[in-house]
Amino acid sequence: MSERAEVDVVIVGAGFAGMFMLHRARGIGLSARVIEAAGGVGGTWYWNRYPGARCDVESMEYSYQFSEELQQEWEWTERYATQPEILEYANHVADRFDLRRDMQFDTRVRSATYDEQSDRWTIRTDGGGELSAQFLVMATGCLSSARVPDFPGLERFEGETYHTGKWPHDGVDFAGRRVGVIGTGSSAIQSIPIIASQARELTVFQRTASYSVPANNGPISEDEKQAIKRDYAAFRAQNSLMPTAIGSRLPIADSLATTVAPEERERIYEERWEHGGLPFLGAFLDLLFDPNANETAAEFVRAKIHGIVKDPEVAERLSPKTVIGCKRLCVDTGYFETYNRDNVELVDVSETPIDEITRHGLRVGDREFEFDSIVFATGFDAMTGALLKIDIRGRDGLSLRDAWAAGPHTYLGLGSVGFPNLFTISGPGSPSVLTNMIVSIEQHVNWITDCIEYLRDNGYRRIEATPEAQDAWVAHVNAVADFTLFPKCNSWYLGANVPGKPRVFMPLLGYPMYVDKCNEVAAKGYEGFALTGNPA
Ligand SMILES: Cc1cc2nc3c(=O)[nH]c(=O)nc-3n(C[C@H](O)[C@H](O)[C@H](O)COP(=O)(O)OP(=O)(O)OC[C@H]3O[C@@H](n4cnc5c(N)ncnc54)[C@H](O)[C@@H]3O)c2cc1C
Repeated sequence: MSERAEVDVVIVGAGFAGMFMLHRARGIGLSARVIEAAGGVGGTWYWNRYPGARCDVESMEYSYQFSEELQQEWEWTERYATQPEILEYANHVADRFDLRRDMQFDTRVRSATYDEQSDRWTIRTDGGGELSAQFLVMATGCLSSARVPDFPGLERFEGETYHTGKWPHDGVDFAGRRVGVIGTGSSAIQSIPIIASQARELTVFQRTASYSVPANNGPISEDEKQAIKRDYAAFRAQNSLMPTAIGSRLPIADSLATTVAPEERERIYEERWEHGGLPFLGAFLDLLFDPNANETAAEFVRAKIHGIVKDPEVAERLSPKTVIGCKRLCVDTGYFETYNRDNVELVDVSETPIDEITRHGLRVGDREFEFDSIVFATGFDAMTGALLKIDIRGRDGLSLRDAWAAGPHTYLGLGSVGFPNLFTISGPGSPSVLTNMIVSIEQHVNWITDCIEYLRDNGYRRIEATPEAQDAWVAHVNAVADFTLFPKCNSWYLGANVPGKPRVFMPLLGYPMYVDKCNEVAAKGYEGFALTGNPA
């Protein structure tokens, strides 16, 4: 692209957020351009093609609700959809709403600079392209900046390396190979059972054990689909009343784990374990608030691990000692069972970390491991990583990296002081990764679109969060987190997986209350934001 394109809005990212943002922007008559680093739509589901990748929110919920026709016509096949099926869905949406003609793929945004005279953003891309827009919407994703720890010797390894978040499109055949998987988070837990079934030998390097609950995945029955589709809107409305916008069919119970009789508690955990998936954490109201309650759930899962894994020492190593749920709960299919295989070894690197990657594998203390392939299941620089990779300069040349040096500061997770006309979708300070993200994405996109429409209709050129509103919001987000057990372990919610990243709990718990607040702010003429221009 050589000439400078002028549009009303530039959207960075063509995942579910960027796609819907484009659709809504067009709907109110804005000219828009989406810039996407990938070769197609789908975001997370474009990049994460590792074996076993699938959603852990049920398919009937993990989809858009903005179009009744779309949700009626699309047929999910399994309770938890696979990555290929979700990517197919994303492509279907792009075709159905003719999104591609305003999308530019294989292009990465490098910088964005705000000009106060014109109230416009200049966006520069890696191909030397330049765009000018009144509004800039960052749909860059919370889990899109793949992270490989800085292991010494990484460049020396002569075999193949993969990151789960940047998986080759043609797939990988591990048959006959000696494979090392580094990490035991969500992506590892999904991929390890499949890699183990292919590889000659699999060695898993675990720093922190993860809690995982079986998915109990399977086909969705026609009856179940029809029951939901008969009144999809009511189903969505019920889900939106849940703190995580998920799972109204098995909501959070209102009893306390600490007051119920032990046998009854065990029965309830057993029932939720059988049901499978994330609702396990909703077995009791106090699980994420009271350490004693939490310990009962943690102990239940540890006992399950010991029941599944035959070697008691391996079972013990796989049993997390931390608070359950303060790291994202994993959902698996045969994860713990995998450690009963003869070709699988678990190596604990919590005390003795990986020293270096060698030409033929890696070294931990005095043990050398040889591999044909190493898989980094080492996660993401979550929530802020993709945003801060871009050199974003707001008013007076203020850089977002400096503004967020002590952790992200936003108002509602939607805007930040010093950065007028810049919106973040599912940004830090909003429920985001603690929810069904498509629900949160739609809520943000709708709010942003309504806001831009309001500015336009009322003759405002610029909107920016006020310092008072932002400070109060940051304090609120922290206070909510401190009321829970979330800050109690080293999770990516806190940035703890990235050395040097400020330790701040980034998402906000409580979807319905958050939505009420956003609606109230809008109803009061965008209270907490400064609006400037020539109002009609
Ligand atoms: C393996 C995995 C499983 C998940 N499962 C679930 C689940 O079950 N339920 C759930 O709610 N959420 C899940 N998530 C979270 C998931 O990220 C969201 O549900 C959702 O897909 C996010 O959509 P998005 O459009 O906001 O971001 P993304 O899908 O991450 O898309 C962002 C896009 O922005 C592009 N981009 C970033 N920076 C730039 C740049 N500088 N220039 C150009 N393009 C850029 C990226 O290439 C990417 O395509 C999962 C995430 C992962 C990684």
